[in-house]
Amino acid sequence: MMASVSTSKSMNMSAAAHSSRTFSWAAPMSALLMRLPCVRPTCQAVRRKSQTRGVVAASGGEGPIKPSGMSTRRSRSTATRAVLPEDGVLQKGIAEFYDASSGLWEDIWGDHMHHGFYDPNATVSVSDHRSAQIRMIEEALQFAAVPEDQMKRPKSVVDVGCGIGGSSRYLARKYGAQCQGITLSPVQAQRAQALAAAQGLADKVSFQVADALNQPFSDAQFDLVWSMESGEHMPDKAMFVGELARVAAPGATIIIVTWCHRDLSPSEESLRPEEIVLLNKICGAFYLPAWCSTADYVNLLQSLSLQDIKAADWSEYVAPFWPAVISSALTWKGFISLMGSGWKTIKGALAMPLMIEGYKKDLIKFAIITCRKPE
Ligand code: SAH
Repeated sequence: MMASVSTSKSMNMSAAAHSSRTFSWAAPMSALLMRLPCVRPTCQAVRRKSQTRGVVAASGGEGPIKPSGMSTRRSRSTATRAVLPEDGVLQKGIAEFYDASSGLWEDIWGDHMHHGFYDPNATVSVSDHRSAQIRMIEEALQFAAVPEDQMKRPKSVVDVGCGIGGSSRYLARKYGAQCQGITLSPVQAQRAQALAAAQGLADKVSFQVADALNQPFSDAQFDLVWSMESGEHMPDKAMFVGELARVAAPGATIIIVTWCHRDLSPSEESLRPEEIVLLNKICGAFYLPAWCSTADYVNLLQSLSLQDIKAADWSEYVAPFWPAVISSALTWKGFISLMGSGWKTIKGALAMPLMIEGYKKDLIKFAIITCRKPE
């Protein structure tokens, strides 16, 4: 089976996509960041060569991944061999990070905790960001060709890594579907449920604390499997994709929108050392384990015999996002809220310029990968 890697929206980020304003913030904040010992990887950055080339295991801030004492549980697929951190350590860090930061995010940005989708080179005002986040959802659905007509549209949806449930509620409304969201953060699950009740959607959507790598659902349960910016947190990409495929019903659409590192060229065995250093810093702040490339995801989907596999690089379309988040953190309200939301959140905020740097260097890719489970 051939994976069609779309080129229509797959392009290098143009210099113009990053405004100069972006880097007037990024430079001093990065400089500040580098001086903070806690944002440097606390344990030695570890790069592990996996069967899937280019998978980079990085240190996880307060130590989710350790060079020694590491569980070496293997993925179920032979397509990749991510090495997992000690059970529960990374998950605990992720849960605590979102427990601490979700209130602040919602306060300033609303209930979608993902990038917006923007027209390239557009001038964007603050009020445009929320609609850009909705547009991200719509563009993803369209890219995956999710059917709109009454008979074929999704009736059951799983939102894997649901945040405070923004996507679930949107999809429940759009399709009249039943949605179930899972997150590692108890605070998020509770807030997602409260928002659903407040919006009259309590009978349509439900949320629980559960691990995407071991989902509490039976096989073939959902006709839309949705993962919006959660894949980057998954320490075993093969297990992650395996679970998405397992819970998908025959004919279901699977949509993964996630942060990847650039694809390796045929002559490369791994990323360059300075690229690994940058990713490790980001991992430390955002509780991320190994990164992989879009091609790695495509390989995993192929290995599971999934159909209509499509992938694209949407980095250019998300370029205004991080500068806007940084600007919002630097307003008086944002700053005060940030200071009150604890060190984990502050550490994440300080790492935001590194994301911009990663995009600018063509190292970080904002990827969409979609496919269909065979009937
Ligand atoms: N999709 C949401 C939230 C993105 S933030 C949105 O677009 O608004 C990343 C989310 O992934 C958080 O809710 C976090 O708890 C969740 N997550 C990370 N690792 C997870 C795992 N192993 N299992 C379940 N959820 C996970």
